Amino acid sequence: MKRGGSTRGGPGWPQSLQFRQIAREAAARGRATQRARPRCGAHARSSGEPCNAFALSNGRCRHHGGLTPSGKRYGLPTAPAPRAKDAGERFERKLADIARRRAGRARELAAMSPEDRAAAERHRADRAPGDPAKRAAARRRRQNNADARALLTERADHAQSQEAAEIAAAISALRAERDQLLAQSAATAEDHDFNNYTDGVFG
Ligand SMILES: [Zn+2]
Repeated sequence: MKRGGSTRGGPGWPQSLQFRQIAREAAARGRATQRARPRCGAHARSSGEPCNAFALSNGRCRHHGGLTPSGKRYGLPTAPAPRAKDAGERFERKLADIARRRAGRARELAAMSPEDRAAAERHRADRAPGDPAKRAAARRRRQNNADARALLTERADHAQSQEAAEIAAAISALRAERDQLLAQSAATAEDHDFNNYTDGVFG
């Protein structure tokens, strides 16, 4: 082999057929890996097609669901990376977006029927932003309150039915008394029109 030839690592190596072959194969492997990466399936308004950009671990691209915080930052707005060139501008835009979304949501809620609004507020309460532990505690508290309300209503119904039973018992006692009096009056004074007198009261 001549000096300065294409031995591996030697001076002519980057130009050698063998090197080029290795590089071609590596590039093809790289392209295949890229092609196989999961793509974002979000609807792209620009084309009406799925977005198809490279997806992050959450299955959406950085535009369609990137960097949505979980854990203690769940549902809270994120600030743009402070070192980004347009960080200030993006931050302003974000604040404006949030204000616009809130106003829109308030309008939607105002237009709802009271039942729909209550359901929407329950839905919202179950997904309150922030710490998941606080969210779970609030959910438990709401559930306990609902249970207590149900129990109190049940008690009230029960008390009412008890009262009704007492009244019914009093009525039947009075009726029995009336029947007794009628029988007595019928036996002692046939001409006494007690029946007409009592029917108006006890029917
Ligand atoms: Zn996307």
